[in-house]
Order: sequence, then structure tokens, then C-alpha cells
Amino acid sequence: MSDASRLTLNPPSRILLGPGPSNIHPRVQMAMLAPVVGHLDPYFVSVMEDTVALLRRTFRTQNKLTFPVSGTGSAGMEAAFDNFLEPGDTAIIGVSGLFGERMAENALRSGAKVVQVKAEWGNIIAPEAIETVLKAEKKVKLVAVVHAETSTGALQPLQEISRLAKQYGALFLVDTVTSLAGHEVAVDEWGIDICYSGTQKCISCPPGLAPFTANDQALAALASRKNKVNSWYLDLSLLSGYWSESRFYHHTAPISMVYALHEALALIDEEGMGARVARHKRHGAALHAGLEAMGLKLHAQAGHRLNVLTTVQIPAGVDDARLRKRLLTEYNIEIGGGLGPLKGKIWRIGLMGHSSTAENVLLVLSRLEKLLSEEGFKAKAGDGVAAALKVLNG
Ligand SMILES: *Cc1c(COP(=O)(O)O)cnc(C)c1O
Repeated sequence: MSDASRLTLNPPSRILLGPGPSNIHPRVQMAMLAPVVGHLDPYFVSVMEDTVALLRRTFRTQNKLTFPVSGTGSAGMEAAFDNFLEPGDTAIIGVSGLFGERMAENALRSGAKVVQVKAEWGNIIAPEAIETVLKAEKKVKLVAVVHAETSTGALQPLQEISRLAKQYGALFLVDTVTSLAGHEVAVDEWGIDICYSGTQKCISCPPGLAPFTANDQALAALASRKNKVNSWYLDLSLLSGYWSESRFYHHTAPISMVYALHEALALIDEEGMGARVARHKRHGAALHAGLEAMGLKLHAQAGHRLNVLTTVQIPAGVDDARLRKRLLTEYNIEIGGGLGPLKGKIWRIGLMGHSSTAENVLLVLSRLEKLLSEEGFKAKAGDGVAAALKVLNG
């Protein structure tokens, strides 16, 4: 272990077009190099305050309880279910992909009764199916869905389910790990009571924090719990003491990660959320058009496809792992494979945050076309790029 050159980190600079992490902006990289100060240092306190203000703007919420949970997106998920469910509660979870399944697993571990409303992986959950369960169960504590199902490429419409949850007196909980800062998310306007996200998808930060917000109705439910929250680390009452003016010590905030999130949120603010969502839409549409022009089939339900992550069926005869490996080693491009029942059946191509550029759309299409023809699928030469350019120039 004494070979210093072997131990020196020298990671490659990849073009990250998978399901996250996405590439980070140089300013976010720089932020992580800034000096570490104490977590109660007045300077850091001001960074915390600014970060919370920027997060509220990003989530489009006025919620007092808004801060990043220390941990990746899954920590946000676990905080949501740990805090708002307990034995005796009933939860309805929409499950149409891996992250819906993960939500159901988290809900189960809280000791609550869990009713899953399922749809095929790639489709959205029908609000009527949720209403059927809301009617059948006497009292439902919360309804939870994934906004952008990263395992399938589908975008779940939220407003109708939100309305139903309210009508039946249930809290509405939404996972926006992949949608926030890439698709429109409006927490207050859409009546979302509890919402969490992650930093390494469309926010374009390294993984490590889970932006979180909850409104007063959710906090009232929290205050009337019969049991203590199982997790001490993710107990929102304790965490909000630390993230409020009292700065009551709970754990040491990951200083450099908060710097990075601050900078990434500032970049989002500078671009403007409207322009940012439009950028993701334009590049997503160009990629969709390009893949279809190459003769490939998109996987997610038409009309409900994500702009930030495209799922495309792997043509028969093409070796999934070998093509992705060649893309990485020969062209430095990462894309994702399928998960669960979609393993070996689809690829997942992300255009998230700083990775969502016209250049990346054209690059991945041309590299895919070349590799696919070498692997036995004859894409019509140049058609993918031409179709994408038409969208980009349109
Ligand atoms: C990535 C992801 C998560 C989990 O986030 P981690 O940062 O990997 O813990 C949860 N939900 C969705 C929809 C995701 O895409």
C-alpha cells in the first residue's frame, strides 16, 4: 500500500448520460474545494439560510420546514415514511417501477398497513385506481407516488391524485428525486404536503443530500404521532431544530456538500426554472426523435415520457452489457441499463441538469448509431442525428 502513484485518485472525466449522477458544473466543483468552516460558524449559518431560501424557490413552496436531509435521495424517502407513518396508519403507494417499490418497502418498515396501487413498468398510475382504494379503506394517512419514475422513464401527473388525497383527508407525498429542476414541480400550487428530492439528478450536484419540504398539515400530523420516530438521525423534529434559527446541534452538516448544493441552486436560479425546464424539454424531444428515426422503440407510455431520462428498447440481438461497456470505454459515455423486469430489455439515457445539452444529444445518437451497426442492428446512417437536429433547430 505504499505506492503513492497508485493511491492517487485520477478519475476519468465521463460524459454522464445515465440515470444519475449527472455531470456537475465547474462552479459546483469549485464550491466543493472551498475551505471547510465550523458548522456553527456565522459564515456557514448564512450559507444554510441562503440554501434554504433557494430550496424554497426551487420547490416553489413557502413551507417553513424546508432543508436538505444529510444523505442521498433514499434518505429523503426514508425520512418521509419514517416520520409520517406509524403502526396503525394506512398508506396508499403507487407502484409502477423500482422507486415505487422502494417507497412501499419503506412504508412497510414503519409498521403501517400498505396498499399498493400498481401499473405496468413504463405506464402511469390511474387516479381512479387510487380513488378506489381511498373509498375502500376507512382512513388513509397518506398517498404517495413517484413523480419521475427513473426506472421506467414515465412522468406521473400529480394534480388529480393530489385533489383525491385531499378529498379523502390523506396527506400527499411525492418523490421528485429525478424531476426537480428538470420538469416542472410546484409543491404549494399542486397541493403536495410532503416532498423530497436528491442532488445528483437534475440539480447536478454530487450525490449526498436530499432536499426535503413539508407543509403545516404534514407537521400537524407529525405532532400528533403516538410513537417516537424510529430513526433518530432522520427525525424531522430534531432536524428542523438544527436548520431553524435556534441551530440546535443535531449532527454536523456535510459542509462541502451544502456548499455544492448552494452553488447548484444558485445556478438554477440564474438560469431561471422556466428556461431550465424548457431546455430539458427541447433536448428530451430531440433525443426521442433521434432514437425513433434510428428505428428504435421508446419504452415509456406515449404522452407521459420524461424529458430528463429516456427509456429505449434494446433491439433484438444486441448485447446490452457489451454495448454499454463499449460506449463507456471507447467513447467515455455512460448510459444506464434496465432494472428489475426491464433488465436487458431497455437502456436509460439521462439528459439531466448540466448533462442536458444539444451537443450531448447529438453525440450519444451518433455513437449509438455506430456501435449499434457494429453490433448487428442496422440503423439508417445519419437519420438519428438529422431528426434530432430538426427538433433542435426548430
Ligand atoms: C435516484 C432515485 C432515488 C434514490 O436516490 P439515491 O440518491 O440513489 O439514494 C429515489 N427515487 C427516485 C425516483 C430516484 O430516481
